[in-house]
Amino acid sequence: MTKHVYDFSEGSRDMKDLLGGKGANLAEMTNMGLPVPPGFTITTEACLSYLASGGYPAGLAEEVEEHLTKLEADMGKRLGDAEDPLLVSVRSGAKFSMPGMMDTVLNLGLNDESVKGLAKQTGGDERFAWDAYRRFVQMFGKIVMDIPSNLFEDVLDAAKEAKGENAQDTDLTADDLKALHATYLDIYKEQTGTDFPADPREQMRLSVEAVFSSWNGKRAVDYRRKNKISDSLGTAVNIVAMVFGNRGDDCGTGVAFTRDPATGEKMPYGDYLQNAQGEDVVAGIRLTLPLADLEKLDPTSYEGLRDVMNILEGHYRDMCDIEFTIEKGKLWILQTRVGKRTAFGEWVMAYDMFEEGLISADDALLRVDANRLEELFKRVIADEAKESEKPIAKGLNASPGAASGKVVFSADEAQEWASRGERVILVRRETTPDDYHGMIASQGILTSAGGTNSHAAVVARGEGIPAVCGADAIKLDFVAKTFLANGTRVTEGDVITIDGFDGTVYVGELPLQESVLEKARGGDAEAREAKIWKAYARLMEHTDLVRRLKVRANADTPDQSTNARDRGAEGIGLCRTEHMFLGQERVEAVQQMIFAETPEEEQKAYDVLTPLQRGDFVGILTAMSGLPVTVRLLDPPLHEFLPDQVELAVEVAVAKERGEDVTDKERVLRKVNELHEMNPMLGLRGVRLGIVKPGLYAMQVRAIVEAACDVKEQGDDPKVEIMIPLVATKPELEQMRAELEPVAQEVLARRGVTLEHFEWGTMIELPRAAVTAGEIAEVAEFFSFGTNDLTQTAFGFSRDDIGKFVGMYEERKLVPANPFVTIDIPGTGRLMQIAVEDGKAANPSLHLGICGEHGGDPASVVFCHQLGLDHVSCSPFRVETARLAAGQAAVGGAEVASR
Ligand code: PEP
Ligand code: MG
Repeated sequence: MTKHVYDFSEGSRDMKDLLGGKGANLAEMTNMGLPVPPGFTITTEACLSYLASGGYPAGLAEEVEEHLTKLEADMGKRLGDAEDPLLVSVRSGAKFSMPGMMDTVLNLGLNDESVKGLAKQTGGDERFAWDAYRRFVQMFGKIVMDIPSNLFEDVLDAAKEAKGENAQDTDLTADDLKALHATYLDIYKEQTGTDFPADPREQMRLSVEAVFSSWNGKRAVDYRRKNKISDSLGTAVNIVAMVFGNRGDDCGTGVAFTRDPATGEKMPYGDYLQNAQGEDVVAGIRLTLPLADLEKLDPTSYEGLRDVMNILEGHYRDMCDIEFTIEKGKLWILQTRVGKRTAFGEWVMAYDMFEEGLISADDALLRVDANRLEELFKRVIADEAKESEKPIAKGLNASPGAASGKVVFSADEAQEWASRGERVILVRRETTPDDYHGMIASQGILTSAGGTNSHAAVVARGEGIPAVCGADAIKLDFVAKTFLANGTRVTEGDVITIDGFDGTVYVGELPLQESVLEKARGGDAEAREAKIWKAYARLMEHTDLVRRLKVRANADTPDQSTNARDRGAEGIGLCRTEHMFLGQERVEAVQQMIFAETPEEEQKAYDVLTPLQRGDFVGILTAMSGLPVTVRLLDPPLHEFLPDQVELAVEVAVAKERGEDVTDKERVLRKVNELHEMNPMLGLRGVRLGIVKPGLYAMQVRAIVEAACDVKEQGDDPKVEIMIPLVATKPELEQMRAELEPVAQEVLARRGVTLEHFEWGTMIELPRAAVTAGEIAEVAEFFSFGTNDLTQTAFGFSRDDIGKFVGMYEERKLVPANPFVTIDIPGTGRLMQIAVEDGKAANPSLHLGICGEHGGDPASVVFCHQLGLDHVSCSPFRVETARLAAGQAAVGGAEVASR
């Protein structure tokens, strides 16, 4: 029979699929001999079975009972006992950490009997016992029964206020807490229509079922969609013996990171809250102390914690975050995992750990996320503004980056304003998982409560959104939609700027400036001394050493080419020549070509265009001297160079009405009408233009080859590749080569120049081309996958219109990801695979590349590596991202692809 429950001593960190992340790590730590409270884990399989059938799978109830009885025996205490009760916590824990999921129920096992036992256990501490009991009702009510938490919080606040100004929860007496508990029970009954369950076994069953069901709750589903986590994993449930951090000042609870998750620096970092339970830290109920203060409060526990931190970091060979509780001077470890970190932090940590010898260079490379690389180049508030402007408030630097936007006070408003194109900063006291949709729609997040590990901070760091948390000078008035900060009033819609690097908040829009990395890349000596630059330079050096894929750029001008080369591009994979046909003089010449009635007229237009085109190519080939440049012959439909059909028709009608001479305009309109196509993307474009207007491609080839001769003569090294777009059949390419090669030969012979690198190839961007690639490869020296068009034609999705529905498609998981962003491996990818295999079989020396937008998408780069392409080509700004992803693919292929 399937085993549904594992004692902590039976698991290991490799069992995350079955035990969830929390359960697997609790098991690992138990087996390492660390001070973990005893407990057991109900598997994700049990959860999935429950969700499928609506009931416990066969045997689960018995197994839970068996483990519970063993836990009672191990602890020498029984659940619900009036003398010496066992209390447990029930904690959800999926394979991947999901802050949007239901969390934890603490103090389970309390009822009117066992509360007496708890007081006895703690030396007659009635206050503690009743505080535990009211917390349990509150948490059980909120998490298991979905009672709005503010109903409980409001009465708690009222009870505190009754004790005097600035009273804390710790000021409430046993009688206050008893009264509070009674009110909580009333709320519970009112909201659920049932009495609070007194039987601990029933409390447990309801809690476990609630955790199971929370897997399909809206918050969890939203979180999984956004973070591309599969719906089919399920969550585990951990039952853990309770330890208490709220039994006096020699108790407390906290979160520790073995390195600073924001900066990556090797120093202990975290928060500690004396005399409190774990959820108090996250909820920001009281202001936490920096972890370092624990050293003064309780040096022995601090030392013990530092030892555990070192052991865990050495064991996991990574930064760990650790939840701990100190009960009467005894340290307990409640959770650990490899900690989340900022993009900044992950580079610094990976580099330091490599330098310390903790991990290899390959491991270091795999530790950084190529998708977040661009974050490192994020802007900061300009130095002058930073010096001259006075912040209106200061909080914690919870997530790096500077952001400006209009203030909104609710997640719904944030989402709504953002959907109208507004840039917003979401301002809250603290956020909850229900605010997630608004948080991700915001430029930045500002909270008045909560520490560096509050919900707002954790989510913002994960999403790369700048955030300032715990800015307690901010006094919020949600009804009036304003806040007051040190005398400055800010109202909904006012612009503020937040600085997530140092936690400051400013009124108005401050100018932003380049990041350290951007400065360092520009050669700034001081910036080059920064650790982040050293980390960046070292790991990029390693990626360049190990990657097999070359990285080229899509660039159409000498400036873009130079920029790409500076970023490490090893050639141009796509030079789109249509951009060279813009500008007054050129458009006129192109129109003249289109309107030409005779070959002579057409030639005249080419005579204007040839020297202009040649100049463009000289610039690009010079900038890329020594590196290959793939020039694509004209691709878009010709109507793009003519006036808009409707506008022109209106113009002609109006002019006629006024009695003006419309002969010229009408001639243009006739041509526009003649060239009009119902589906221009599937019309007269690409190679079809070359076939219909042979002089056009001949002119371009002449200009390219003449430019190459010029560049060679000036002492540079041009490497030319001419690419024919949108080919569907072998004869198309064959005919083009037959017409164009003599043009090139004529120029080379006339100039007496030989080019060492001169190739002819085609784009593979139509399904027919992909499936007949074996034939096409017989007449091509290279293929470059045009995955924009290939995706468009594989799905039949118009690339210009998909914005209207792709979001919904992604949300409903009708596509695994936007196929125009990440290659759709089973469909578009399969076509590519066929083309690679058949193309290579027919022509083993065929070069293979990709130049669609996917060439800069890390997951697609990994796929291209696995497919055996020779290069990827992407926008100049993504060259570094592609270099990194290519290195990661080489050292960790499958692992990286599955991330
Ligand atoms: C492509 O289709 O992927 C491509 C690179 O060409 P374009 O985007 O210019 O159509
Ligand atoms: Mg294309």
